[in-house]
Amino acid sequence: MFEKILIANRGEIALRVQRACRELGIKTVAVHSEADRDAKYVKLADESVCIGPALSTKSYLNIPAIISAAEVTDAQAIHPGYGFLSENADFAERVEQSGFVFIGPRAETIRLMGDKVSAKDAMKKAGVPCVPGSDGALPDDPAEIIKTAKRVGYPVIIKAAGGGGGRGMRVVHTEAALLNAVNMTRAEAQSAFGNPMVYMEKFLENPRHIEIQVLADEHGNAVFLGDRDCSMQRRHQKIIEEAPSPLLPERLRDKIGERCAEACRKIKYRGAGTFEFLYENGEFYFIEMNTRLQVEHTVTEMITGLDLVQQQIFIAAGEKLPFRQRDIVLTGHAIECRINAEDPYTFVPSPGFINRFHLPGGPGVRVDTHVYGGYTVPPHYDSMIGKLITHGATREQAIARMRVALSEMNVEGIKTNTALHADLMADLAFQQGGTSIHYLEQKLGISSK
Ligand code: ADP
Repeated sequence: MFEKILIANRGEIALRVQRACRELGIKTVAVHSEADRDAKYVKLADESVCIGPALSTKSYLNIPAIISAAEVTDAQAIHPGYGFLSENADFAERVEQSGFVFIGPRAETIRLMGDKVSAKDAMKKAGVPCVPGSDGALPDDPAEIIKTAKRVGYPVIIKAAGGGGGRGMRVVHTEAALLNAVNMTRAEAQSAFGNPMVYMEKFLENPRHIEIQVLADEHGNAVFLGDRDCSMQRRHQKIIEEAPSPLLPERLRDKIGERCAEACRKIKYRGAGTFEFLYENGEFYFIEMNTRLQVEHTVTEMITGLDLVQQQIFIAAGEKLPFRQRDIVLTGHAIECRINAEDPYTFVPSPGFINRFHLPGGPGVRVDTHVYGGYTVPPHYDSMIGKLITHGATREQAIARMRVALSEMNVEGIKTNTALHADLMADLAFQQGGTSIHYLEQKLGISSK
């Protein structure tokens, strides 16, 4: 087992990984930007190294600085968290070439799945059902693009092969708008992701977002840890996640879960990963695979009783999965609300000084946050400041606990989106379960891009 792990991330996930390591008796190295120098979790780590100024391209995305930090502290492995370099194949490669263990899949797997066109192709071959669309990337020939859209059927969605974070997508309803939309998405994809390649999918009108969590070791074993529903989204970004997905027949979940585990064995996947699907009329359509820990891994932890970060560490250390599929038991229901420093209705970010911070508690309540009273939320990074998670014997109980927890939570000095979450817990359609990915925007009266 490793003696020391460097955590190449910040905020709540840096603290989450640190806790997993400390429980295992593994020493931790926190790397931080100048803006995060005084954060408590940085002080809690056994060692800390400043890797650059606030701007993330100069710090959390600065590969040479992170590798040097691992060298000077004698860390053996690097955990990338989520976001930043977690799905950067070049980083994974550099980490391993420098003699450290990358806590995640092999660089070639990250590369394969990071390009959504090659990912879909690999999944089709592995027997995972995909959204109907173009065969690979769209060609330059306008006539061909028009022909493809006719075959797929309007509305279609144009997506960047290198896209992520809900960016680089455009819905097209008519042939008249098609070529312009393709050109605009290409240009955006080039500037945002450095890759102009785009592809086309049928735009599903009323799907839910359902994903399958997997764990796979180096010895050819793979299991799935149930499913999560992340349909409550704004601008293709998740706001609330839950496990298991409400109203999803267990038989369908197990069938798609087994396909995912099988795909892992076929592509020799290693580590934790997530297969994301759109689900409509009883059918699953693969959209992408995330080759890292996800923000919403917590709800899976609550219903499986497993620590996913520790499982990632065991796998990276070359151990065999300590369980088989039949040992995975899902208990009760869990919900996660992402707490963002932003206005609950305009979504304008609200960084700044927090003078009061009171956390909820009680049975079945978990809070993952690095924030406290006296902390300043820097303006340079993502607005998520923590995650409120509740677990109950039933979905109703998890919702009731979330309602109470949200009412107890008190953050003063900055705005947070807790009022929106409280509204959603009281929303009848949400309570019934099974709302589509468009529900929140429809409710808020805003249209999807
Ligand atoms: P990203 O990598 O940016 O998260 P995804 O491919 O995972 O992109 O898609 C993110 C979200 O975009 C989905 O959860 C869904 O809301 C929407 N979306 C993606 N593809 C489609 C599609 N074919 N039809 C309808 N909505 C889609």
